[in-house]
Amino acid sequence: MQLNLNDIIKATNAIGDFEDIDIPVKSIKTDSRTVEPGDVFICLCGDRFDGHTFAKEAEKKGAIALVVHRPLDFIPSIPVLLVNDTVKALGDIACFLRTNTKAKVVAITGSCGKTTTKEIAYAVLSQKFKVGKNLGNWNNQIGVPLSIFQFQGEEDIWLLEVGINNKRDMDELGSILRPDIALILNVGPCHLQGLKDEETVAENKSKLLKYVNIDGVAIINGDNKALKETTSKYNINKMFFSKGEDIDIKFMGLVDRKGKFLIKYNNQEGTIILPFWGNHFEENLRAVLYLSFYFKLDFKDILTGLESLNLPNQRFKVVESDKYIIIDDTYNANPMSMRASLLATKELAKNRSFAVVLGDMAELGEREEVEHHKLGLFLKTIKPDVVFYKGKCAKLVQDTYGRENFFIVNDEDEFISFYKNSNFKDGVILFKASRSIGLEKLLNKFKLEV
Ligand code: ATP
Ligand code: MG
Repeated sequence: MQLNLNDIIKATNAIGDFEDIDIPVKSIKTDSRTVEPGDVFICLCGDRFDGHTFAKEAEKKGAIALVVHRPLDFIPSIPVLLVNDTVKALGDIACFLRTNTKAKVVAITGSCGKTTTKEIAYAVLSQKFKVGKNLGNWNNQIGVPLSIFQFQGEEDIWLLEVGINNKRDMDELGSILRPDIALILNVGPCHLQGLKDEETVAENKSKLLKYVNIDGVAIINGDNKALKETTSKYNINKMFFSKGEDIDIKFMGLVDRKGKFLIKYNNQEGTIILPFWGNHFEENLRAVLYLSFYFKLDFKDILTGLESLNLPNQRFKVVESDKYIIIDDTYNANPMSMRASLLATKELAKNRSFAVVLGDMAELGEREEVEHHKLGLFLKTIKPDVVFYKGKCAKLVQDTYGRENFFIVNDEDEFISFYKNSNFKDGVILFKASRSIGLEKLLNKFKLEV
């Protein structure tokens, strides 16, 4: 990152008692504990903390300027940059860096699998290019700028997932990134609290296309009808990826708890073993093949990149012990990924016994009841040996699933005690719920005590 204080003042339209300040900025920080001499400290306000109360500490640690959106209760001896909104200021600075980068900017959106796809794309594109990517899942108006601030400034590609919860999010993120390549992976019933229904989700994901550079391109899931429709009104270059085309990938089955996939690319064909399985991963991989095609990668680079792939934690990670194959999918859940993970777990279990430890799917708004009822019905078709469930929607799932072998658990101790009284003693066990349920606590206890 190469910035000086003047760039920040201009980018954010900050006002204050300062003149032209041509000082290089080391880094931008929003956590006062990490401030080092030469950094600029931006005071963000969250639910639990107000960054303005840490401004003094940041100055003491050597910050060269403070970005604020309300008066401070002390008089600092470093410049104070007053802006309307410090979150917007983060985006403004990121936008400045974006304007000045030589990198091609790829923005990935979708309801499910953005992080997974970003990591797959990173593994592949890094074979030929220097790539910058989001830190973990930092995909909102705070996380995307903070990720960009970590970049060295020498990247060929910026690979950034963008996540939206509300109708204004895509406009804000799109205008920061103005991508060269917009990738829309899929749409499903997610974040309905802020986005109402699937049509609204598709419309809002498609809004990313409004911000694509004039000579850029959108790579879109052509197997998704809603997306085909909602993206049609944007008059930009588009590539649709679909099953059965010349560039394609197909899940062929399980091999030793890994997935075998057949890849077709530029008249070449080959199989590869990857650390996940299931039909749902095809669209993620297909999207990456199209990205690779855009960046003119050859087949060998793709295979080498995929071989180096490591899935991010808590996303369908297989952990083995003597008696169990544990699938740690505790990072997140929505109706789409819940079904996908249940099917993939059943596929692994085959004739072995399998248990599922599930929890609520959050942010479904008015669809909360119906989607949890549907989960109960779906579980019936999957036929696990036992279900443990944590969350306020437990009874909704039980309504349609039934009471037999269905245990509602309130915490990790209750889970372990129900578990020990159940008939399930070995086999495959899936852990999956929305982030807010904190299902990893149950998983950790299980690993320790069972
Ligand atoms: P978030 O909105 O939290 O950032 P995300 O879109 O980045 O989520 P991931 O974190 O990659 O998604 O994956 C979340 C869950 O969805 C995991 O259980 C993963 O296995 C599953 N998943 C990944 N790709 C798909 C897909 N194409 N279809 C359905 N489920 C998927
Ligand atoms: Mg993510």
